[in-house]
Amino acid sequence: MDTDVIVIGGGLAGLCAAIEAASAGAEVTLLEKLAECGGSSVLSGGLLAFAGTDMQQAAGIEDNETLLYDDLRRAGAQQNDDALVRTYVAHQMQAYAWLKGLGVQFNSVELAAGHSQPRAHSVRSQAFMALMEQRARDTGRVNIVFNAQAERLLRAHEGARIEGVTARINGSTQTLRARRGVVLAAGGFSRNAEMINLFVPHQARCVVYCGAGCDGDGVRMAWALGAGLRDVVHIKGTFGFHPDTGKTPGRDWSRHSVYRGAILVNRQGQRYVDESKSYKLLGDAVLAQPGAMSFQIFDEGVMETSSDIAPLFKFREALALGRLLTEPTLEALARRIGVDAVALAATIERYNGFVRSGRDDDFGRTGLSSGYGKLVELKRGPWYAYPSTSGLIATYCGITVDTESRVTNVFGEIIPGLYAAGEMTGGFHGVAYMTGSSLGKCVIFGRIAGRNAAASDK
Ligand SMILES: Cc1cc2nc3c(=O)[nH]c(=O)nc-3n(C[C@H](O)[C@H](O)[C@H](O)COP(=O)(O)OP(=O)(O)OC[C@H]3O[C@@H](n4cnc5c(N)ncnc54)[C@H](O)[C@@H]3O)c2cc1C
Repeated sequence: MDTDVIVIGGGLAGLCAAIEAASAGAEVTLLEKLAECGGSSVLSGGLLAFAGTDMQQAAGIEDNETLLYDDLRRAGAQQNDDALVRTYVAHQMQAYAWLKGLGVQFNSVELAAGHSQPRAHSVRSQAFMALMEQRARDTGRVNIVFNAQAERLLRAHEGARIEGVTARINGSTQTLRARRGVVLAAGGFSRNAEMINLFVPHQARCVVYCGAGCDGDGVRMAWALGAGLRDVVHIKGTFGFHPDTGKTPGRDWSRHSVYRGAILVNRQGQRYVDESKSYKLLGDAVLAQPGAMSFQIFDEGVMETSSDIAPLFKFREALALGRLLTEPTLEALARRIGVDAVALAATIERYNGFVRSGRDDDFGRTGLSSGYGKLVELKRGPWYAYPSTSGLIATYCGITVDTESRVTNVFGEIIPGLYAAGEMTGGFHGVAYMTGSSLGKCVIFGRIAGRNAAASDK
């Protein structure tokens, strides 16, 4: 089982690292603890942030590196690592061209959260990840081992090079040596309740929706060797997830009818927030409600804005899936969701009054989303309720790395022979993630990690 480079994790970052290391001539063993590759990457919305592409130019979108840099820093509230952001910006066009060269097909360019220009390049995540796995195999130098859970990183003593890992492979513990380097690409830790409780206990009430292997193994393995940590206090759920998220198969658990005019009420039938705020802030607000629960309530007028394309606005689909509840009258809907009917009716009446007067005296809502869009009165049955809470889909933080994807310890010193990329690394996002920048970061820093591990001293 000795090899040149060991990659831990078969998500996007790990596959990119493996392809690059193999292209540089290294023999690669990729350990994936589940029975298939994909991780959170395959569940993702498939949006990658690139600026200045041919697709943008063809669509008349004027975007460039400066705007991308500014948006990334702004999303991170300037608390992200400037050097990492600059590295992303400097490599992103090469990464886009590299993906296209591998045969990745981008379908459209979308405007998404945190973007000052439409720059979210969309792929179909399942086809994308299948292609990336195939490209890793096509190198002829990548051996993908499934049901192989890396457990510990090996080094002779503190300060010595990382020389391999121990891994549980099909039920037995084995030692694997890496002649050149080890790349950690084991994803985030949304599923590790202990770690979430340690860093952000107030987010522990979130439902979780991400790859089945997102237990934080990679972060803990590096942490055990003294790796630094960054951004862990900024972990935040996303509003709009159904409380039954993940209980049955299917990807579409989240809906945002609030941004089409719905109101948000708690179990007492009362509004508690300006519904036009960002879904991250709504996520925090719902976690503070009894049972961390609320309902997006809307009428037929809002239902008529249902989309067949944008997942977050597919209200009719949610109805067909039995997740969106409906009744002909508001009173019947209140009964169905266990909310006091008189209180709910009073809330709707008061809200409609605010819409008519143009002033929300309770929470200051002035638009559909972040102040934009005209508010609508809710008055036409049938009525709808989407049970909603906050969902943790990614942690976007973790161990410290430098611009060469080398893991650094709590003193800022490089841990020799150890590289990391993807969601498990900290510093790049700062306070918040800009849409498309996590998959983008997997490609850019995964490639750097793979290349450097392959070139590492023996
Ligand atoms: C629903 C959803 C939508 C999203 N949409 C977007 C989007 O549109 N754009 C965007 O930029 N980001 C998005 N994200 C975030 C993004 O998908 C992830 O941050 C990113 O895919 C993480 O990639 P990764 O390679 O670091 O980790 P993953 O893709 O999670 O891969 C990590 C792999 O490591 C394996 N592993 C873990 N521990 C071990 C171990 N001990 N040994 C061996 N293998 C191990 C796991 O099983 C997994 O396969 C979304 C996330 C979700 C859940």
